[in-house]
Amino acid sequence: MEKIVIAGAGITGLSVGYHLRGLDFLMIEKENEPGGLARSKKVGDFYLDYGGHFIHGKDSYFIEFLKSLFGESLKKWERKACILKNGKLIPYPFQANLSLLPFNEKFECVKDFIESSFKRKKRASNFKDWLEINFGDGICKSFLFPYNSKFWIYPLESLSYEWCEWGIPIPQWTDVLRSALGETIKGLGYNPVIYYPEGGIGEFPLKIMESFKERIVFGREIKGIDLKRKVLILEDGEGIEFEILISTIPLLELIKSIKNPPSSIIKASSGLRFISTIVANAIIKGKDFENIDWIYIPEKWTPFYRTGFYPGRKGNQIPVFSEISILPNSKIEEEKIYLELFALLRKLNLIEKKEDIEYFEIIKIPYAYVIFDSYRRKNLPRILSFLERNSIISTGRYGSWDYLSMEKSFLLGKEVAERVKGKLHENLKKQKI
Ligand SMILES: Cc1cc2nc3c(=O)[nH]c(=O)nc-3n(C[C@H](O)[C@H](O)[C@H](O)COP(=O)(O)OP(=O)(O)OC[C@H]3O[C@@H](n4cnc5c(N)ncnc54)[C@H](O)[C@@H]3O)c2cc1C
Repeated sequence: MEKIVIAGAGITGLSVGYHLRGLDFLMIEKENEPGGLARSKKVGDFYLDYGGHFIHGKDSYFIEFLKSLFGESLKKWERKACILKNGKLIPYPFQANLSLLPFNEKFECVKDFIESSFKRKKRASNFKDWLEINFGDGICKSFLFPYNSKFWIYPLESLSYEWCEWGIPIPQWTDVLRSALGETIKGLGYNPVIYYPEGGIGEFPLKIMESFKERIVFGREIKGIDLKRKVLILEDGEGIEFEILISTIPLLELIKSIKNPPSSIIKASSGLRFISTIVANAIIKGKDFENIDWIYIPEKWTPFYRTGFYPGRKGNQIPVFSEISILPNSKIEEEKIYLELFALLRKLNLIEKKEDIEYFEIIKIPYAYVIFDSYRRKNLPRILSFLERNSIISTGRYGSWDYLSMEKSFLLGKEVAERVKGKLHENLKKQKI
């Protein structure tokens, strides 16, 4: 029997493990708990996550799986997100909720959207171009350009748009017109309905691992990989042999850990870009916007691109998350972020004074969003196929260097497990012949 090792117990690794349950495998996780980015920290009576982590999904297998894990205890509701613009909260998505804009801006948005949707579509050459072609100048200038520039940091012309179709909803021109005339267009976007477990998002990975938890070793970090000997080296020097390695370690870290990788692979990975996220978690004493889950902030007066509310408000105590995009090696000044957070929450009239922030912490997510560009498109397949030739399946949001939700990570884990089972089956057949 081949030795299967799964590196990482985030949603993808756990899904691989769940779909391989019953087989012999080992899962190695560097942290002392499962979940990766989908973890929660209990602070008093509240659960704080690694930024807003709400489950959404359309795949029936995934939804049934969620129900089987949580039964009736999983909360489900219609997402309510907004955009803060000129002091007003405009329902998300912006492009389908234009009625609150000043007349001229609204007119430009509708006119340009309709014009662009009737023009013969040319193929977009980059992300900025894709936005202009699909939404027209008005909506781009009013929201999509400022928000995406703040979020992605890199110039929008330098990005590509493979990920956009599921992430950025394109309404019908009739919906845009209706919205400008005052109708609220519901159900657009990739997450119109969201689910959230009692006890924070961290409950999700804890439940997935239930049926195979004895196969996971926690608190062990993979530091090196010897491809020739097919051995993983842990931080204390212990070696672990593998026949198949399924890795959810961020791709750049995986390449760094390989002993003497070919120079072509070092070169191919050298230009892969990504951005980091700073999450400022807080528990505040104040008021909130009833039923709003989160608010996008395209404006420049604050570094935060989004602020929102974790479920589980208790009276006037509210758990809040706020997120900032940064370049990977940027210096983080905690005090400055605290003051920026105070300014943001006060401007939103959620709190009045600093003492209303009862708890504050900063979490840095080093690998948060990978950058889609022509470099990635050209070099990623080379890197992944080099790894596959060496019996490593690099998968998950950061292993496959992709933009994946928890649903997609879970489904990818299932797909990988099925591939591995197919491979084992083939090998068994060959041995019998
Ligand atoms: C700010 C933010 C907000 C998000 N919000 C949402 C949301 O609302 N809804 C949604 O569906 N998705 C959301 N996502 C995406 C979601 O977090 C991911 O899709 C999912 O968690 C990815 O899981 P993964 O297992 O692929 O990766 P990870 O969670 O990164 O898991 C990788 C695991 O590998 C471990 N590991 C790494 N290196 C080593 C090593 N050397 N040795 C051993 N173990 C190692 C890590 O500790 C980790 O446990 C969000 C992401 C971000 C960044």
